[in-house]
Amino acid sequence: MKPAAFEYHAPATAQEAVELLAELGDGAKAIAGGQSLMPMLILRLAVFDHLVDLRRLEGLRGIDSRDDSVWIGAGTTHSAVGKSPEVRGSVPLLSRATPLIGHFQIRNRGTIGGSIAHADAAAEYPAVALTLDAELEVLSPRGRRTIAVAEFFTGMWSTELAEDELLTGIVFPVRQGRCGFAIEEFARRSGDFAIAGATVAVRLDADSRIDRCAIGLFGLGPTAVRASTAEVELIGRAASEVDPRDVGHTAVSGLGSVPSDLHGSADYRRRVGAAMVARAWRRAVQEASDD
Ligand code: FAD
Repeated sequence: MKPAAFEYHAPATAQEAVELLAELGDGAKAIAGGQSLMPMLILRLAVFDHLVDLRRLEGLRGIDSRDDSVWIGAGTTHSAVGKSPEVRGSVPLLSRATPLIGHFQIRNRGTIGGSIAHADAAAEYPAVALTLDAELEVLSPRGRRTIAVAEFFTGMWSTELAEDELLTGIVFPVRQGRCGFAIEEFARRSGDFAIAGATVAVRLDADSRIDRCAIGLFGLGPTAVRASTAEVELIGRAASEVDPRDVGHTAVSGLGSVPSDLHGSADYRRRVGAAMVARAWRRAVQEASDD
């Protein structure tokens, strides 16, 4: 199939792009790598009269190491994120998540901002951003604002972004202390979206007690989520005394409605999710212990 006819716009600046989006209203949509939007247009799951292409916007691309954070332009491709030594050294969870996204052709065109703005419940980057408490920089004709990622995802494929707002950058805190990070997911074939997945960030104090931990879950609800109840129960405990399987069970027991479809029932996803949390927990704690 082909998409319905649309008018193509290629603004030269981000300011021009948001003004166009404001002027054209709900008949317009931004397009970045096109790896999620184009299939939706081709299948006619979405129809827009105007597409505003973000690829000429140089201010949306790049990776910049700052004092205690790494800024990544929303238009930076998954491949560029995956190849970056700064990301590998300072935000290893993001680096490790990247090869799990689709295939290399998709990673060469898809962008980190597109992935987070698209807010697919089974996508890796939204869960990584939640786990690392990233901040999202947003531009509209009314100016700039920053949104904490915990407030960003509002439901299936929906976010806090208004129609005329663009994500311009994502700010990730840099790892500090004795940290470990891991992502685990289960998909039927390499490159498929995960049936269920988990991300873990853990920090140990000098006595190997857990002084910070974050557990993200994806593919297990309408949006990626944090397993907050499990996190709270783990703080202050000696890492060696925690059974990873218990972490997995507690993490999924706090979930609300879990999707059930031809790829797996809700019960199956919960069991896979618990196993992914347990695996990721074990690896993250091992890494932090070796640090
Ligand atoms: P687009 O498709 O261009 O846009 C997606 C949405 O985001 C649109 O609504 C658009 O308006 C909005 N948007 C884009 N950029 C911005 C911005 N800067 N500000 C505001 N809104 C914006 N993803 C995974 O995470 N894991 C996978 O395993 C995976 N597998 C895939 C397999 C296949 C076969 C395909 C085709 C895609 C797969 N993807 C997967 C999706 C891929 O990661 C996309 O690249 C990503 O979801 C969207 O990025 P994009 O730049 O292509 O965005």
